[in-house]
Formats: sequence, structure tokens, C-alpha cells
Amino acid sequence: MRFAVKNWQLSQLFLSDTGVHEVELETKSLKLRCNCVGFKNRSSCKHVRFVRERMDQNGGVYATHVSTKAPAIEANLAMHSPEAFRNLLINYGKIEVV
Ligand SMILES: [Zn+2]
Repeated sequence: MRFAVKNWQLSQLFLSDTGVHEVELETKSLKLRCNCVGFKNRSSCKHVRFVRERMDQNGGVYATHVSTKAPAIEANLAMHSPEAFRNLLINYGKIEVV
């Protein structure tokens, strides 16, 4: 039996004066969402637009930047689980400021 499971994955962390915001990508539909107040009110925000623009420039793929200091074992684990990927980004991902 198959279930239509939504698979949200953290794509990019942003630092702004309202805190740290997380843009997540739904890996099947390529929908984006953000946890900032602007997105909750308008279903759009500068963070989501930033990621969408980069995806458009890159053939629909968002290239997440992760520090080369990230241990290979963590990077490998991150490819198999959204939770491990989230931890990798939090620990070693590049934080964008928009
Ligand atoms: Zn946002």
C-alpha cells in the first residue's frame, strides 16, 4: 500500500533581525515553505523567493552549501534521512542573509 507522504526537507537557513528562518522543500511537488511570520500571512516571503530564484537558475535544483568541515559520515547519513540532513545544515550549512 502506498501513501502520499509529504516529504518536507530543510533546504536553507536564513538569519534575519527576526531570528533564524528555515525554508523547506517538498521533494515531490517542489513546493517551498518558510517558518517566518511573513510566509504565514502571505504564503510568500523573501526567503522562499530567494530559494525559488536559485532553483530556477539551477534547473529546478537547490544547491545547498555545506562546509567542507562536515564529517563524511554525517554527510552520508544526511542523504538518507531528512532529519540527518536538517542536522547537517544546522551544524555545517551556509546561512544566508537576505
Ligand atoms: Zn520567510
